[in-house]
Amino acid sequence: MVRERIAVAEARAGRPPGSVAMLAVSKTWPMVNIEAALQAGQHRFGESYLQEALAKIETLAGRGIEWHFVGPIQSNKTRPIAAHFDWVHSVARLKIAERLSAQRLGTSPPLNVCLQVNLSGEHSKSGTRPQDTLALAQAVAQLPRLRLRGLMVVPAREPDPARQRAPFRALHDLLEELNAAGLALDTLSMGMTDDLEAAIAEGATIVRVGTGIFGPRPRN
Ligand SMILES: *Cc1c(COP(=O)(O)O)cnc(C)c1O
Repeated sequence: MVRERIAVAEARAGRPPGSVAMLAVSKTWPMVNIEAALQAGQHRFGESYLQEALAKIETLAGRGIEWHFVGPIQSNKTRPIAAHFDWVHSVARLKIAERLSAQRLGTSPPLNVCLQVNLSGEHSKSGTRPQDTLALAQAVAQLPRLRLRGLMVVPAREPDPARQRAPFRALHDLLEELNAAGLALDTLSMGMTDDLEAAIAEGATIVRVGTGIFGPRPRN
């Protein structure tokens, strides 16, 4: 069970129990699976596809769920994201951050955001380059309706556990650099079903777990 894996990894890393939050990434899974996770006490859910996410958010309104957007963001989709989510992990451009800030409702608390970093060797094109991250973070931190929390990464798949830690260590180093430059970031969103132990060993504060909770992803 994933909670047990997280607890063991926390203990191995000498980190306090509960220092790593589990985000249940429920993209592509139907409501019945989310309901089951809710019953089991899970209250943080992550989604990547906006239309699917909005339907789930509407259906589950009032159930005390914290919703995290983890997918790629097109600029014409920022308004519903700003209105309906509590966190966005995948901010990679200032323009997107500016729109999210401008569109965040005044009645909601500031939107928590992480910057997605594209470390070398990733097949995905999303993410800011490491060398651009400080400037982007400084600009995003000024936006009034956002609360910049930290960094996120989706490394290239690496089946060898001994080699999984390098990108997570690099992201942690980058976070420390940003904090040394005056930012106050507390979040490392890294680690998924296949590499959460490596991410926790390198300081993950949020692991994003899909298949490990829900089983093999349905094909769409
Ligand atoms: C789908 C997804 C996950 C979960 O991946 P699993 O391998 O199923 O645990 C985590 N992060 C992001 C950004 C995702 O899109």
